[in-house]
Amino acid sequence: MTDLSRLAGIFVLSFYFGAALATEDLLVPVDMTPVRVSQHAYYVPGGTGVATDNFGFISNAAFVVTADGVIVFDTLGTPALGVKLLAAIRTVSDAPIKRIYISHYHADHMYGNQAFAGTGAEIVTSDGAKRYLEGEVAQQRLSERRLSLSPWVDENTRVVPPDRYLQAEERFMLGGVSIRVVDVGSAHSEGDLVLFVESDGVLFSGDIIFQDRIPFLGTSNSAEWLGLLNEMEQSDAAVIVPGHGKAAENPRKIISLTKNYLSYVRQSMRQAVAEWIPFDEAYEATDWGDFIEYPAFAEANRRNAYGIYLSLEQESLRSQ
Ligand SMILES: [Zn+2]
Repeated sequence: MTDLSRLAGIFVLSFYFGAALATEDLLVPVDMTPVRVSQHAYYVPGGTGVATDNFGFISNAAFVVTADGVIVFDTLGTPALGVKLLAAIRTVSDAPIKRIYISHYHADHMYGNQAFAGTGAEIVTSDGAKRYLEGEVAQQRLSERRLSLSPWVDENTRVVPPDRYLQAEERFMLGGVSIRVVDVGSAHSEGDLVLFVESDGVLFSGDIIFQDRIPFLGTSNSAEWLGLLNEMEQSDAAVIVPGHGKAAENPRKIISLTKNYLSYVRQSMRQAVAEWIPFDEAYEATDWGDFIEYPAFAEANRRNAYGIYLSLEQESLRSQ
């Protein structure tokens, strides 16, 4: 975040509280106009940068609107963005928010949960997210974001846990729309959900798919993740809404960056691990030319490669 945009943020925030919560949609100075991708499905596209860019609005949230209620998929990376998301949904529908599926419990997808407290919506996520929430990482990340995303993440920001963990999958009808939510297990995170709006042929993939920026690999399970992408490539979805970047109509195309990147990092680091080449040396010797121009390369690539290097070392130790 630049100093100027931070200042603008503080100004808007003080204006907001000065106005006694009168104008909720002024809270974050970003455009959050919903994009309609089918009869019932919408998303709000975040920017392409890293976590602290664009007031934290760097991931997508999506929602399904039916006559009987709204289903939300992810709540964005700050409580203020959650407030803005709720206001954006209300520009499309006044129907009750029935349920919120969190694709995975990473900070950029769920710090907006607390803005939905008054809606009575049930929050559901993957069973694997328990590991994240029960571990130390969730708290460490919150402390880090209170500094890096101040004032948007502050001492009042908390990690709102789900009301329920999903195992395997569930399918239901709401207002005549068929929805299927699948726990795809540990791929990008400890536990990832994807949602199909079956009536419309729309897939909300969460961070299984990144468009327009270098994926964040964190503690991902890259082998499982790649397998899943191969399956999704065969998907007959008419539209896919990724966790980051623009929605697209061609599954192969939208998957290609994430798939090519994961394959390439794994392949480069696998060779290094097999030949006992130290990470620094292997990293410097790798040609990153195909990816260097993408947003978030400078911030994410080395860390991603190192994570993969370590996980491949583990894989090779286990197989010996
Ligand atoms: Zn994300």
